[in-house]
Amino acid sequence: MSDPIDGKACPVADLPAQMMLDGRLPSDFVCALLAWYQQQGRDLPWRRTRDPYRIWVSEIMLQQTTVATVLGRYDAFLQQFSTLTALATATVEQVIEAWAGLGYYSRARNLHAAARRIHDDFDGEFPADPEVLQQLPGIGRSTAGAIVAIAFDCPAPILDANVRRVLSRLFALQQSPRAAAAEKLLWQWATLLTPDAQVHDYTQGMMDLGAMVCLPGKPQCEGCPVKAFCLAYRQGLQEDIPLKATKKPVPTRYQVAVVLELRGRLLVRRRPTEGFLGGLWEFPTVDIKRVTGAEAAVQGMVKQMGLTGDPVFVGSSHHLYSHFKLESLVYLVDLGDSLLVAETAAQWRTYEELECLALHGAHKKVFAKVRT
Ligand code: SF4
Repeated sequence: MSDPIDGKACPVADLPAQMMLDGRLPSDFVCALLAWYQQQGRDLPWRRTRDPYRIWVSEIMLQQTTVATVLGRYDAFLQQFSTLTALATATVEQVIEAWAGLGYYSRARNLHAAARRIHDDFDGEFPADPEVLQQLPGIGRSTAGAIVAIAFDCPAPILDANVRRVLSRLFALQQSPRAAAAEKLLWQWATLLTPDAQVHDYTQGMMDLGAMVCLPGKPQCEGCPVKAFCLAYRQGLQEDIPLKATKKPVPTRYQVAVVLELRGRLLVRRRPTEGFLGGLWEFPTVDIKRVTGAEAAVQGMVKQMGLTGDPVFVGSSHHLYSHFKLESLVYLVDLGDSLLVAETAAQWRTYEELECLALHGAHKKVFAKVRT
């Protein structure tokens, strides 16, 4: 029987005994983690609620964004969309605008689409079943597990980046944790370790262990509450694990970003809501095959629009997507006092307005080039 925590029996005494952590029972691991979490766990706004809607929003925001950035946006987003109904009945453009600053805007579109599904198909009642949650846009297995564990305190494993790293080290995984075989193993370990009770605290304890102690570059093993269970620590491999995956080279694509300026305002247009970077704003662009064709492409575009003005090269910016690199060659064209009306999908915006506009990541960098 494991040690009690705060006078309560450890909730995981019945976990399979054949699953050992450096010779110890997983239940002892869970108890050590819970004891540490009760002392050291982080106080975060989304931890002061059991409302699945608010927990879901935090989980989606945290998927590819740091806690520090989310802290600056979470309350404001929930003030604007204080309930699931408020989010479901908003337009996708409003949700994208409110997402500005968090990046990876497909998350905002999915959040909106999933809110509509819950509103329409589940009478606004948040599903508590991970299998059902995974049918909703933007909710994968780990996010579904986190919502169920944290909001409903029901056993459901998670495998986010932090937990993936912690488990890889605990069990001294000798392959990249992104490999298909490793993925299966990690889910098995995550499932076996997840206790039947106090899942809310356990799940957040695992997240905190990865975020505060079992850090990517330099794990703080001496102060780690579970070092007695950790195979990588015992073998001195904690800084070598997780093993790195060999990366495939990604192609580079080139574009010219043409920043048209008319009396202190710049022309931007919104991308179609459906598709890549849907609903986000950008400057007019022309795709080019190679850098040497840039100047001719700008002149061609300016002429085609019936404008006059000398393009000035202000620099190039780089942006990495999952499947390609984008190099944008940035040209500023001052249109002087021309008379020009923006086409329907385009708008003239001041520099101050552009600071707050939901430009996509590559064109935030383009804007930074012309602003300096
Ligand atoms: Fe991570 Fe070190 Fe703790 Fe192992 S002992 S879980 S490597 S911090």
